[in-house]
Amino acid sequence: MNNYNNYPVISLDDIIRPTQLIIDLKVLKENFNKIKQHVKPARVMPILKANAYGHGLVRIAQLMQELNADYIGVAVLEEGILLRETGIKLPILVLGGIWGNQIPIFLKHNLTMTASSIEKLNQIDEIAGKMNIKAKVHLKIDTGMERIGVHYYNAKNFLNAAVKTKNVIIEGIYSHFANSEKGDLSYTKLQLERFQEVIWYAEKIFQEKLIFHISNSGAILQMPEANLDMVRPGIMLYGVYPSNEVKKTVEVKSALTWKSIVVYFKVIKPNHPVGYGSTWQTDHNIRSVTIPVGYGDGYMRSMSNKAEVIIRGKRYPVIGTISMDQIVVNIENDTAYNGDEVILIGSDGNSKITVEEMADWAGTIPYEILTNINTRVPRVYIE
Ligand SMILES: *Cc1c(COP(=O)(O)O)cnc(C)c1O
Repeated sequence: MNNYNNYPVISLDDIIRPTQLIIDLKVLKENFNKIKQHVKPARVMPILKANAYGHGLVRIAQLMQELNADYIGVAVLEEGILLRETGIKLPILVLGGIWGNQIPIFLKHNLTMTASSIEKLNQIDEIAGKMNIKAKVHLKIDTGMERIGVHYYNAKNFLNAAVKTKNVIIEGIYSHFANSEKGDLSYTKLQLERFQEVIWYAEKIFQEKLIFHISNSGAILQMPEANLDMVRPGIMLYGVYPSNEVKKTVEVKSALTWKSIVVYFKVIKPNHPVGYGSTWQTDHNIRSVTIPVGYGDGYMRSMSNKAEVIIRGKRYPVIGTISMDQIVVNIENDTAYNGDEVILIGSDGNSKITVEEMADWAGTIPYEILTNINTRVPRVYIE
């Protein structure tokens, strides 16, 4: 702890917001190693987009570097630049599209680009030539997602064009599954078959050995034949399963606890509704506590009158509409004091709230819960 200028300062622990995301790096490390073990000899590209699914991009990238991950995947250029500026040396693939004048910036930071059309590929080739650099590129094939990439049925032209480039190193070819977290894998199998046709052709026309990859968490869990040369785990790395119906063939654990504290205690009487819109009221005196978290942190408003929190090992309901910065919790006749710990996600005693459960309250998927916990919530890492 720094005591700047010898002021009688309060400790840093006291000035950091009590609403925090605690991330256990040991759990993340175990998840990573389990995935690696499960897919070997395939390589692993942990996916760190959207602030590492809320876990904090830079620290998680550092951990992946310590663990010798083969590659890092992010969604947008800015995420890649931040990692380069903070000293990440691993190869980084930016999964999203490229537009405008971004190509020279990709090249300057040694970021691997996704080429999703012949036009983009030729543009990369031309700019790399001018800069006298070899551009590292993965080609994106659309096998059934209809988002970005060249359709599998047009892939031959794309690959032929790629062979002809002069300043581009075609390092890999990839595609993405649309339904791999489902119980019914027929569409996923169809996508894999389409991709295998592309692989067959690529192996015929490229002299170098390329990295072929298509598997996200759902496929890693359910379709080992899709591992190919590399896999791209996102949500499972963070210990959350991509759906309820997915087969849990790798046992991963959530690394995250979202917690806060009690900052206010009061009794609420009948005929005194709680919160904006007065959506909840009691018919008898209750005890309640106020917690400094709200939708402005990513504690979603759609969970109003549905969410629960854990205080002193017991679950209690959130009452009234969730505000931007505060929620109110009904503890009925129980006792709680200012400063008591409140678990929003995580466990305490025998009580547990998972990301999946929170997603159900909010009417969304676990991915959205994680990526919505925004930067106003300090991340605290434990080893
Ligand atoms: C987000 C993403 C992944 C990871 O998906 P999960 O379901 O979180 O494992 C993999 N590949 C691409 C292209 C992605 O955009």
